[in-house]
Amino acid sequence: MAEIELVPMGLRTRYCGALRASDIGQEVSVCGWVASRREHGEHLAFIDVRDHTGVVQCVVDGAHDLRSEFVVRMTGTVRQRPEGTVNPNLPTGEVEIGDVEVEVLNPAEPPPFPVSDRVEADESIRLRHRYVDLRRDRMQRNLRLRGRVTSAIRQSMESHGFVDIGTPMLTAATPEGARDFVVPARLKPGSFYVLPQSPQLFKQLLMVAGFDRYYQLATCMRDEDLRADRQFEFVQLDAEMSFATPADVQSVISDSVARATEAAVGETPPEIGRILWVDAMERFGSDKPDMRFGMELIELTDVFEQTGFNAFKAPSIKAIRVEGGGDFTRSRLDELTDKAKQWGAAGLVWIRVKDDTLESPSAMFLSAEEIESVRTRTQAQAGDLLLMVAGELRVSRHVLGLLRMHLGAPPVSEGGFHFTWVDEFPLFDGFDDEGRPQAAHHLFTMPHPDDLELLETDPLAVRAQAYDLVVNGWELGSGSVRVHRADIQQKVFSACGIEPEEAESRFGFLMDAFRYGAPPHAGFAFGIERLVAILAGEDNIREVVAFPKTQSGFDPLTGAPTPIDPRALKELGLKL
Ligand code: ASP
Repeated sequence: MAEIELVPMGLRTRYCGALRASDIGQEVSVCGWVASRREHGEHLAFIDVRDHTGVVQCVVDGAHDLRSEFVVRMTGTVRQRPEGTVNPNLPTGEVEIGDVEVEVLNPAEPPPFPVSDRVEADESIRLRHRYVDLRRDRMQRNLRLRGRVTSAIRQSMESHGFVDIGTPMLTAATPEGARDFVVPARLKPGSFYVLPQSPQLFKQLLMVAGFDRYYQLATCMRDEDLRADRQFEFVQLDAEMSFATPADVQSVISDSVARATEAAVGETPPEIGRILWVDAMERFGSDKPDMRFGMELIELTDVFEQTGFNAFKAPSIKAIRVEGGGDFTRSRLDELTDKAKQWGAAGLVWIRVKDDTLESPSAMFLSAEEIESVRTRTQAQAGDLLLMVAGELRVSRHVLGLLRMHLGAPPVSEGGFHFTWVDEFPLFDGFDDEGRPQAAHHLFTMPHPDDLELLETDPLAVRAQAYDLVVNGWELGSGSVRVHRADIQQKVFSACGIEPEEAESRFGFLMDAFRYGAPPHAGFAFGIERLVAILAGEDNIREVVAFPKTQSGFDPLTGAPTPIDPRALKELGLKL
């Protein structure tokens, strides 16, 4: 994207960070915050003034009470810095502003922490004074990068004919699998609006309405436990297309992600590949495979078909090979075993590979042929470590997938951006407490046409026309072909234990719409904060949100959530 030229206006004639040797001799006014002050004798001070473009040194004569974070306007003449004082590390390091006339636009109290990337203040203090925190270079960089990313995404979507349409914030529940935030309705005491977990149903209605291609940077709200990659509220690129295949949706979204990456870091990622869900699970033990590194899961079940080793009499046995891991200490191996157990394995079998033997407490239970097959199958070399898990397929995949990440994954933003589509998710990913299948994506996802019959007989085997976009081991977002026929929708509801009356009361408006000419449609949504965090090299999405909540859902800046006035409660018809 072309750089926009920043034209100084108002009180300033130049930006601090823009001054160069070619400006020497010019009379300028800059505005900003006092970044630092160094005294030089009694009546001379070097004041660094900062705005969002950088800092410039101002040489101030006479006594001025100028302290950190005072807001100032400095007017003077750009001049060469005296020999020996040039700072090659600073873009403005060759020049300074001399003969300065100082105007204090607003004095400031000493900041609660220094405005510097070098000093890391406590999280809650940073959030309490977020407006100071956001002055730091890192935060300026992150939020400006975010701005470039959203702008590139809008341009990309609009270049493909998508129309930006808003959907309501006060609405009825859209099930995306999280808890809802609710808002009491004053005009209908005892009733509540729900804040959208996503615009899912509205965007489907927009397809019925003939908009054909919709997008929105939609704020969504989900009441879930907060983590590094999750806040209560987040923004997603939400999109929907009529008469489209998964490949169409994926190509549009791939373009917006590529343009966003280019706008953020100046490089276009390689073309985004695709892997089937079942292969991702089989090879990486995860539906969000981190494909920046190998250490793939190795199938060994058949090797132990006739085994005499009780721990290996299991439906699935898999391994990973940790190159050079043969020197892991016993206590490290014990730690890994504990982790494997926490993650659901009955145990972890480890094998240190030596030149002509395998060293392991389990080795004596294995036959010579088994040992030989393990060596060949895993291509183990002397000095490697093999970690093996036996159990249900779900467990061997899951535990080894996590061990693989634990032992191999680079920090999330290292090693480039490896985007991947994971396609053909299952429709359901398990049963809830009442034994009803739970939608892996959401209830509006179209089953694979070949698997419709299985909905009643073997729901967990039903494939969905659903796909995720994954980058460096993070799930960026999900999408699917939607159900657009009332009869199929009811079948999916019924498979999930939602009978027609309940379906009618919760989703009657959608089922109605399906009866009035609903085109086939498909869509996608991905989290802007997750994408921006990765592009900015941040591990926590809080660093790319202007005003985030703490891990416990608290906002130290405004104090939210707070109790409300008893009169307001009364008006809302609420009693605590
Ligand atoms: N509504 C889904 C979500 O928010 C995305 C989609 O299916 O388009 O995860």
